[in-house]
Amino acid sequence: MLNIIICGAPGCGKGTQSDLMVEKYELKHLSTGDLLRNEIALKSDLGLEAESYISKGNLVPDKMIFDILSKAIAEQTKNSKGIILDGFPRNVAQAEALETLMASLNKEITLLIDLNVDNEELIDRLIKRGETSGRSDDNLETIKKRLAIYEQKTAPVSDFYKQKNKYAAINGMGTIDEIFGRISSVIDSKR
Ligand code: AMP
Repeated sequence: MLNIIICGAPGCGKGTQSDLMVEKYELKHLSTGDLLRNEIALKSDLGLEAESYISKGNLVPDKMIFDILSKAIAEQTKNSKGIILDGFPRNVAQAEALETLMASLNKEITLLIDLNVDNEELIDRLIKRGETSGRSDDNLETIKKRLAIYEQKTAPVSDFYKQKNKYAAINGMGTIDEIFGRISSVIDSKR
């Protein structure tokens, strides 16, 4: 089974590369950002609460994320070739909760893939995405805040998986195919 975490700053290409991994390795894609945006579109209580954090560029509370994600992980790891976690864990507390959940399901994380892209390029990509995405958080002020929160809270998740020897840094600059080629070689070396 391949249970992969794809990690990297906002705009690094996690969603695009996840789609390619889903196709090649027949994995289930779980994106916490997509799950939350879905709740926002439904105007559910959870969605309304989440939007107040997301639109300011802040992380939503861990409990809220874990409540929606733990059920999805349990379901998607059943009878599947594995999962891709995109946008989770976003901090070390979430990584610890994930390890406990996976152990309780008798599964484990195979690898964290860390997509590295220069900050200037990230800002460029997110501003461009904002022209069409309609996302409340794709504007310069919020982008800068999300990048700062990423450095402060999410980057330490890499160290957590480095210590477990389950970490691969990938150069996230270049064409989509070039980047996917790099990701595939790392995954193939783990199978
Ligand atoms: P994303 O689509 O992954 O960039 O997520 C968009 C926004 O959703 C983030 O800026 C956070 O506000 C929120 N979010 C997504 N995943 C998480 C998470 N694991 N923990 C906390 N907040 C999250």
